Amino acid sequence: MSNLRRSARRTLRRWTRPVRRELRRRGLLVARPKREEHAEERVESRANRIDERLLQHVVVVRQFSRTFPTSNVWVLQDRSDAALVDAGFGDEQSIAERRRFFERELSHLRFRHILLTHHHFDHSSGGRRLRELLRAETAINPIDETILHTPSGSNEDLPDEAEISERARVWREEALATPIDRTLADGEIVRVGGLTVRAVHTPGHTAGHNCYFVEETGVLFTGDNVLGIGTSAIGPPPAGDMQAYLDSLLRMRHLEATLFAPGHGPVVRATAAKIKELVDHRAVRDRQIIDLIDRGYEYDRQIRRALYPEIQKGLRRAARGQIRAHLARLVGQGMVQVEEVEGGKTWRVALTR
Ligand SMILES: [Zn+2]
Repeated sequence: MSNLRRSARRTLRRWTRPVRRELRRRGLLVARPKREEHAEERVESRANRIDERLLQHVVVVRQFSRTFPTSNVWVLQDRSDAALVDAGFGDEQSIAERRRFFERELSHLRFRHILLTHHHFDHSSGGRRLRELLRAETAINPIDETILHTPSGSNEDLPDEAEISERARVWREEALATPIDRTLADGEIVRVGGLTVRAVHTPGHTAGHNCYFVEETGVLFTGDNVLGIGTSAIGPPPAGDMQAYLDSLLRMRHLEATLFAPGHGPVVRATAAKIKELVDHRAVRDRQIIDLIDRGYEYDRQIRRALYPEIQKGLRRAARGQIRAHLARLVGQGMVQVEEVEGGKTWRVALTR
């Protein structure tokens, strides 16, 4: 820093000293803590109280995308009873961060349930250790319980990056090792204090995806069916099902929820508008895909290039999955024909005439 700037800054500090002192006295200016050079690596976490019964807890984990928000863990509470909705990531740092938070802020609560919306490890892999920590019962839809406990070597949604795949290995192991104490099929209920929480089977993102609806308050925990930011990834069958997903969105709309508490990102208050936005988005995609095929596009790769021209390399597989999910739905509607070529690596597509 130049001498001139240094002396200007010193002068400024001298002039503003009385003002800063007064602000500090009134609690309006909080001294910034000095950064510790060799402190243990701590992950960033945030707690966000929505109302007296609902709290959002986020541990920011570096995952496949820097812009995509990491998964939410929700605390639903009534009097001294509480439940978690989803369990977040199960790595050492994430769990340590949550333990600190629960011990500091929520030690007065008695946690009875950990309700998992679906089997994906960003929601489930914290389950085993949070279950021990809180002595709570884990629950998930029976279909996703089976998938959760079926070993799988790969995750279609993840990019080919060494550091991420090592983290993913830990998350996958933790998810697989998460005991499930009870299953919750569609319509089954758990109680949290005076609240009635109903499982709503809403497949599409996964086959056994559950939303959880709080009857007394109208809060709907939407898992990955509705996100606070962006649209969720729906893979092609057998993992995902676009038609089932759209049907699930309509089911969710019928609940007329007052608030969506999503699997990622902030709460959504304009719930009906959000559902409409998501349904419209998928309809636009369908139309784009049909138009491209009509203009002579023959392979799913060409469609992916046209619709996601600037996507980073690591996310191309996920983008292709999205397109195949749409194609599979259009096949189901009898509008498109698909033929697998190159041993399934490529889908050759045509309109049904
Ligand atoms: Zn998911």
